Order: sequence, then C-alpha cells, then structure tokens
Amino acid sequence: MVVVGGGPAGSVTAAVLAASGHDVLLLDRARFPRDKTCTEFTSPELVRVLDTLGVRAGYEANPHARLSAMEIFAPSGASFRIEYEDAPALAMRRRLLDALLLDRARELGAEVREGVRVRGLLMGGRRVEGVVAAGADGTERPILARLVVGADGLHSVVARELGVHRAPLWPRRLGLVAHFEGSEELEGHGEMHVRGHGYCGIAPVHEGMTSVGIALDLTRCRPRGSREELFARALRSFPGARRHLERARMVGGVSGVGPMARSASRVAGDGWALVGDAAGFFDPFTGEGIYRACRGALLLGEIASSALRRGGVVQMERYPRARRAELGHKSLVVALVQLCVSYPRLLEYLAPRLRERGSARSTLSRVVGDRADARRALVPGFVLEAAGP
Ligand SMILES: Cc1cc2nc3c(=O)[nH]c(=O)nc-3n(C[C@H](O)[C@H](O)[C@H](O)COP(=O)(O)OP(=O)(O)OC[C@H]3O[C@@H](n4cnc5c(N)ncnc54)[C@H](O)[C@@H]3O)c2cc1C
Repeated sequence: MVVVGGGPAGSVTAAVLAASGHDVLLLDRARFPRDKTCTEFTSPELVRVLDTLGVRAGYEANPHARLSAMEIFAPSGASFRIEYEDAPALAMRRRLLDALLLDRARELGAEVREGVRVRGLLMGGRRVEGVVAAGADGTERPILARLVVGADGLHSVVARELGVHRAPLWPRRLGLVAHFEGSEELEGHGEMHVRGHGYCGIAPVHEGMTSVGIALDLTRCRPRGSREELFARALRSFPGARRHLERARMVGGVSGVGPMARSASRVAGDGWALVGDAAGFFDPFTGEGIYRACRGALLLGEIASSALRRGGVVQMERYPRARRAELGHKSLVVALVQLCVSYPRLLEYLAPRLRERGSARSTLSRVVGDRADARRALVPGFVLEAAGP
C-alpha cells in the first residue's frame, strides 16, 4: 500500500500498518525535518498516540512545552481560562514532532521516500490502483498499490484527483504563523485573543521560544503586502498578545496558508482513503488538527489492516462510519466554538459567565482537550449551565 504524505496523519497510518505486518511505502514531497504552518500546541491526548507508537521517550527527549491552560480573551478584554486539569496540553516544533513520527514509521518497517511528489492517481474504473510519482529528476513513475491513503494535507492531490475536495464557505480564514525568542514569560499557559476580524494565539513551544498564530477573517479584511508586513500589521491589531512580544525577536520568517478550512465529500472508496487535513480541516482555534489527524490515522490503520488481509479489492466502507462516530461530535463542538469566534458578541456574553461557572468551564476544558466525550458539551443541561442567565 502507498501512503501519500508524511505529516502526523501519514506517519501514524504508516506506522500502524507496518507494525501489523503490511508492506507500506510512504511518499512525501518534502525532505525532513521540514516546517509546517502551525501554532504547534495540541491536545493532552497526544500522549496516548505517543504511547501507542512507543515514541513517548523520544518525545520527552526533544525540546517541548507543557501548557496548563489556555486563556481566551473577548475583544473587551473579558476572559476565561480553559484549564487542562488532569494532563497538560503539549507543544513542540513541527519539524521535531513530524520527524519523530516519520522516523518511527520507518523503524516499524515502512519504506519512506522523501523528495517524491505524487502527481496523480492510477485508476481502474472507479477503483484506485496506485499513484503517479515524481522524484527529484521530475521523471514520472507509476507505483501500483492495493490501497492508496491520501494524507497529503490541506491541498491534497489525492482528494482533488478523486473530485472529493471541497472548500467550505465558512469559516474563510487566512492563517499566519511566526516564532519569537525572548518574549515575556507566559508561565506555562497560552492565550487566544479574539477580535472582530480574527484571532491571535500565542503559546510557548519550548523554553525561550514562543509560537504566534494569527487567523484573519477573509470576509472582513483584505490581505495585502508581503506575509511579514501582513503579520506585523495584524499583530498590532491584537494589543493583548503583542504586549508579550515587545522585547522579543522574530526567528525565521512568517509562514501562511489560506483559506484554512477544507472538507471532503467522501473520505474512502475502493482502494483509497483520506486522513488528516486531506479528509477535512476546520480551524486551529481549539488546537485541533495534529491530534485529530493522529486519531483518524489510528482508526484508519486498524480498519485498513483488516481490509488488506481480506484480499481482493480493498473496501473501506467501515472507515467513514467509524470516523463519524469517533470525530463527529467533537467537530460539532468545534463548530460551535467557531460561531463564538466569528461573532465575538457571543464570546462577550459567554466569557464572564464561564469565568464564574467552574463546572461548565471544567466540562468545556475536558471536551476541548479530548479528555471527555464531546457529547457532554452538546446536551441542553450543559448549554444552560454555560450560557443560561
Ligand atoms: C495557521 C495554522 C495553525 C495551526 N495550528 C495548529 C495548532 O496549534 N494545533 C494543532 O493541532 N493543529 C494546528 N493546525 C492544523 C495542523 O497543522 C494540521 O491539522 C495537521 O498538520 C494535519 O496533519 P496532516 O498529516 O493531515 O497534514 P500535514 O501535516 O500538512 O502533512 C501533509 C504532508 O503531505 C506532504 N504532501 C503534500 N502534497 C504531497 C504530494 N503531492 N506528494 C507527496 N507529499 C505531499 C507534505 O509535504 C506534508 O509533509 C494549524 C493549521 C494552520 C493552517
């Protein structure tokens, strides 16, 4: 089988399948370690993925940060804290995390080819039978595979070739990320500053290094100038975040991507499946993305392993259902959080309430941190507790 893309989704899928004894070829157009536009904090539950893959010790040995809380600021300055009560959220530079996961896939037996770009799919009717890939010399070669996994991110070639790639109308945000040294200490927590035109997230990523991500609503502002100019201008519009960076120095450039939201009309078919951002991405406000990609990949790995064992055409019909059951409710919670971000008056209303209502805040923290079933934040009792008068 072929996995296209060696980000968290591709590496975890490849690791699980290789560990189950399947022949796995992973192709990535990049050479690792590589950077990825990302604010780089993630759910406390990432630890479970690291344990499943046996890379926790490797993770601990690399520079990283643990975040005890995320403080959310409404435009007026009213705020509340999402405390990661029983386990901290994690942060690590993507060039380290992604290389760690990719190396683990390799150790478990996956063949990894870097610097190889997938340009298209080999089709046999409606069934995917392989990929067309090109290495550094640009020569295209066909590679046959019983299963092709598209883990190739937001602009997935696999999803495009299959005609299932969609660009949702909402939210339409441009994401910009930069790193700073020497910022004012955030004392092990992160901050999200929401304004009408977007939001700015700031969090330590390891000692002495802070990651700053800005999401700009493309329906409310028109980006112009270079990424650096745009970032500098946008940062000035979030004084609450900027005050932490007054004496700080930007390291490296500004990276960006937009619009960030993507979806797929189908996530699997005969001989193919999508995972990670290729299967859909909404918005990174809740630190969503890395863990979701890994969780989807663990699920896909398990289902694909039994489908491959059955012989014949690899049918993946169980995967979309299992994915919905596993990720669907959390997606709904994330969409509701997004409503508050897109319409900050809702956030102004909720912030003082959540600040005072410890039990509602605790439920929200556990759900956002993937420590509790997302349905707990969707029941009327919770909505009343959080938003009632
Ligand atoms: C501005 C911004 C901030 C974010 N902040 C956070 C955050 O704080 N926390 C969080 O959890 N998530 C965050 N995310 C989301 C997170 O980055 C993604 O959800 C995550 O990277 C998805 O992993 P993936 O493996 O699906 O894709 P990726 O990490 O994008 O990996 C895809 C891989 O596929 C390769 N590839 C692409 N096309 C091809 C091709 N044709 N052939 C071969 N290889 C190919 C790429 O080189 C890449 O290595 C953020 C996203 C953005 C845009």
